[in-house]
Amino acid sequence: MSLKAQILSRIRTDGPISLASYMGDCLMHPTLGYYATRDPFGQAGDFTTAPEISQMFGELIGLSLAQAWLDQGCPAPFTLAELGPGRGTLMADLLRATRAVPGFHAAARIALIEQSPTLRGIQAQTLAAHEPTWHDSAQSLAEQPLFLIANEFFDALPIRQFARTGPHWRERRVGAQGDRLVLGMTDPAPVPALEHRLADTSDGDIVEFCPMVPAVTNAIAGRIARHGGAALILDYGDWRSLGDTLQALRAHQSADILGMPGAADLSAHVDFEAIASAARSAGCAHSRLSTQGVFLERLGITARAQRLADGATGKEPENIIAAHRRLTHPAEMGNLFKTLGLYPETAAPPPGLEA
Ligand code: SAH
Repeated sequence: MSLKAQILSRIRTDGPISLASYMGDCLMHPTLGYYATRDPFGQAGDFTTAPEISQMFGELIGLSLAQAWLDQGCPAPFTLAELGPGRGTLMADLLRATRAVPGFHAAARIALIEQSPTLRGIQAQTLAAHEPTWHDSAQSLAEQPLFLIANEFFDALPIRQFARTGPHWRERRVGAQGDRLVLGMTDPAPVPALEHRLADTSDGDIVEFCPMVPAVTNAIAGRIARHGGAALILDYGDWRSLGDTLQALRAHQSADILGMPGAADLSAHVDFEAIASAARSAGCAHSRLSTQGVFLERLGITARAQRLADGATGKEPENIIAAHRRLTHPAEMGNLFKTLGLYPETAAPPPGLEA
């Protein structure tokens, strides 16, 4: 049975489902989900991510994490983890850039949090030399210092969507009309988790929240608070969510979110305030939210691009300049993408970020 048929049959039995439930099935159904069944990245896929644009991205993130490790007294052993590593490109670039940091590789236990069997297979090839271990979730990471990167992971976690009506909220749900999936709304009701949004929204406004954020963040931030470490979280989004940001992408074009369950990517803007407040509850400090452009500039991406271009031939220098622009320019990924750092209350933020 196709994923669409399975979702329709569930709705016919149990009634309309939340967007989070729909999004979870579309992306992560164990056999028919989007990530379970394909390698979605690059020209031939549906979208491109920063590490797939340039090696500079993973290199600079690696140097920021390695410096944070040095600043915290080189704890050993430690977990070097990535949430949602995709093709493993970022981790490979990070590991190459940190080879010369004394003791870093010897102390690192590489952990990849990935649910897609297809992508696990690709990561195993990319990172064969480094003997990673895989986890279904951050909850099973070892209780030891944790240095972690998450790029475009949180945007793939399922969200719920609400529209304000007076002091109450209507939730957007996925229902069925014959053989079609359709969007609908619940009756207005109070939503305790959105209590804090009554002050900064008005009638008709749409807000989103991601039910998995507290548990995922608590698992990471708790380990960092207890044992030391740092997390760099990069994604598109802002301090607070406002508006409908759920989007479907297929072959680099936007698509209907209900049109092709399991065959199009679904993602939503990340509400960084929710991550920051879950981190604080776990006893962990967080940086100010920085734009990706400023973060990469502070880490020296321009000097790195010049260095790479100097040694390059043919069309390569042009490609390096284009990649630099794409990652940092405010009109490209520079402003839309943000960076949040998590670190122990007793430590400084990782390089590139401000307290
Ligand atoms: N970080 C990579 C890939 C981003 S795509 C890059 O920048 O290129 C999102 C990644 O998160 C994929 O590897 C996907 O399989 C994984 N993922 C999505 N939801 C997940 C979940 N709930 N648990 C574990 N991995 C998940």
